[in-house]
Amino acid sequence: MRDIVFIERDPYAPIRHCYTVSKILYQGKSEYQEIQVIESPEFGRMLVLDGVVQVDEKYEFLYHEYIAHVPLFAHPNPENVLIIGGGDGGTLREVLKHDVVKRAVLVDIDRQVIEISKKFFPSLSVGFSDPRAIIVNEDGYKYVQDYENEFDVIIVDSTDPVGFAHVLTTEDFFRFVHRALKEDGVFVAQTESIHYHLEMVRTIQQRLKKVFPIVDLYTSVIPIYAGYWWTFSIASKKHPVRSPVRDVNVETKIYDKEMHEHAFLPTGFYKKLVSGEYKY
Ligand code: SAM
Repeated sequence: MRDIVFIERDPYAPIRHCYTVSKILYQGKSEYQEIQVIESPEFGRMLVLDGVVQVDEKYEFLYHEYIAHVPLFAHPNPENVLIIGGGDGGTLREVLKHDVVKRAVLVDIDRQVIEISKKFFPSLSVGFSDPRAIIVNEDGYKYVQDYENEFDVIIVDSTDPVGFAHVLTTEDFFRFVHRALKEDGVFVAQTESIHYHLEMVRTIQQRLKKVFPIVDLYTSVIPIYAGYWWTFSIASKKHPVRSPVRDVNVETKIYDKEMHEHAFLPTGFYKKLVSGEYKY
């Protein structure tokens, strides 16, 4: 018998991942994007948006634990958290592990991603029923403009910066985020890979540096994202971010104090990367 395969259509990657598929569980189109749920013998269920794999069941923690716990543990008291994107629920699940969190607002433009996740990804979508979670279906770029001095942590867990996600990497957006954060707020965004998206990483870092006094970069290795050496750009109004400032008291698979500190690039290499001295 021949394998059924799914070939990814990633607009930003110079290679295409090809996955063996055991079942196609869902195929449809929302107002915003094509949505598929496929099952792979190796990776479990996978959520695919516009031909790009967003989440797999096997390795998702390598992304969600890093995007959530690094900014939350860099903040002494993250009571109010805003997640932009993240419709699969994985980041929300990790954020809600923090007892100090009183309110987590998740703003995903596409209501259907949330519904699909509730149906096909119960291990990711557990947080949607938590009383501290508030779900909004709106463009995060517009949503954040209505707030000033409101959130302790803002997380951008979006699709690749094309189409309606592109605005979430602009300097304008970073200025709105800065205003929406409290005076000691922390911001983080997934910012693609060092290998295949170096120019994009650098541009985002330079834009953040125009707006925030503290800007840094940390990474995780994620098998399903082309380029693998995945970056998270973090910016802070006041607190240093390279170490947790609270006891790591949440249950995780990989994140802990040591992993937090090791996730940051050595400062010499970080400077070379942002200045452009490091190139391929
Ligand atoms: N972890 C994933 C990754 O890096 O590939 C991201 C997963 S999550 C499903 C991405 C979500 O961002 C999608 O559900 C999409 O609808 C949402 N999104 C993209 N642009 C957005 C915007 N401008 N405002 C709100 N949500 C947005």
